[in-house]
Amino acid sequence: MMQVRCQWCGWSYTLKSDAVEAAVAAAEATKATHHVENCPKCRRALKIQISEMKRRLPRKSGTAGAETSS
Ligand SMILES: [Zn+2]
Repeated sequence: MMQVRCQWCGWSYTLKSDAVEAAVAAAEATKATHHVENCPKCRRALKIQISEMKRRLPRKSGTAGAETSS
């Protein structure tokens, strides 16, 4: 989970781990450095750094190496 604070209205809310994970995966697919999240309160776009989101992801157990599959 990740605590997000709206820079526009100051509202803070929690992003679920799977939402963070999905955002990171989508950003990696498009080589984006930011994820754009809409504030649930004021609906403005919030830019969240992907590197920041990655740090909030739960650590996967087992191998940490990036295996190329497909
Ligand atoms: Zn807001």
